[in-house]
Amino acid sequence: MPTLPSLDLATGINNSPHVVILGAGASKASLPRGDLNGRVVPVMQQLASCLDLTARFKAAGFPDPSDFESVYDELISTGSDPTLVAEIETRVQSYFAAMELPPDATLYDRLLLSLRDSDLIATFNWDPFLAQAFIRNRDTRRLPRIAFLHGNVEIAVCLKDRRSGFRGQVCQKCTNPLQPTRLLYPVRKKDYKSDPFIANEWAALEWFLKRAYMLTIFGYGAPKTDAAAVDLLSGAWTGNPRFELGQVNIIDIRPKRQLEETWESFFCRDHYGIHRRLSHTWLHRHPRRSCEALAWATLQLAPWRNNPMPRYKSPRRLQQWIEPLLTEEQAGKFSGNPSPSL
Ligand SMILES: [Zn+2]
Repeated sequence: MPTLPSLDLATGINNSPHVVILGAGASKASLPRGDLNGRVVPVMQQLASCLDLTARFKAAGFPDPSDFESVYDELISTGSDPTLVAEIETRVQSYFAAMELPPDATLYDRLLLSLRDSDLIATFNWDPFLAQAFIRNRDTRRLPRIAFLHGNVEIAVCLKDRRSGFRGQVCQKCTNPLQPTRLLYPVRKKDYKSDPFIANEWAALEWFLKRAYMLTIFGYGAPKTDAAAVDLLSGAWTGNPRFELGQVNIIDIRPKRQLEETWESFFCRDHYGIHRRLSHTWLHRHPRRSCEALAWATLQLAPWRNNPMPRYKSPRRLQQWIEPLLTEEQAGKFSGNPSPSL
């Protein structure tokens, strides 16, 4: 029998975190009509065209410019065209840095408000949406930790003092302006260790995965250049003593069979769900209580009633809606009661 159920029957609280991993598909689902200014949120296959690089890639001899990963990986491994590499990196930085979250609530606002400060959202995305949504919801204080696995245009660092913050801020220690984080590009031999900021983000993800009760992977395609990273994630999750009890949720629009193949090593028996959208998952049905809801249903056979977050347009109303849940968190006792609507 597994011995670490994590569920405290007296308080109703499950002390193990929920980890959410985001890929490009999550940004796409959040902003299907583009950012505030209609700028397309690209998945990997659209990147070359969004950056206006299709003709350059063709001229450089790449027959399939939509395969950004392979193009970039080959440019780096052969060292054949450093000018083109520099051009790509400049365009990536300026394209993503110019993106802005629209004022209406997005999936990112909902995700952040649906998790507690003991949970983690880790993203592979360069775009600024998670960070910008964090900034506009941070008055609620009990937001999850966020981690940026490939660097991010909205996050800046002082490497000397090991401080990070948002673009435009100064270092709290030396008061110099924080510097942009290095973006990690799709190459087979990725170096997650040498950049102290990125190493730190990966260490945080590993720490959380070893303790998590639930893992949700949203819109992340596990591309071949990330194979080493996916192995690392799988090792941390399957080595977790709660692996036998927990649950994995995959949110992705690709065919079910393909997804089962990709994520097989993350599944324990039938403890997984494959969904086309966030609204079908534990996280949506039980915001801020997903790990409790699962544990009460499976360990205690006493399922909690669903409590889905309403589809309010204003981030402020969503923040107000979670207030009764925050009050319970402050008191350290969870009822499992649905929240009143506003
Ligand atoms: Zn500093």
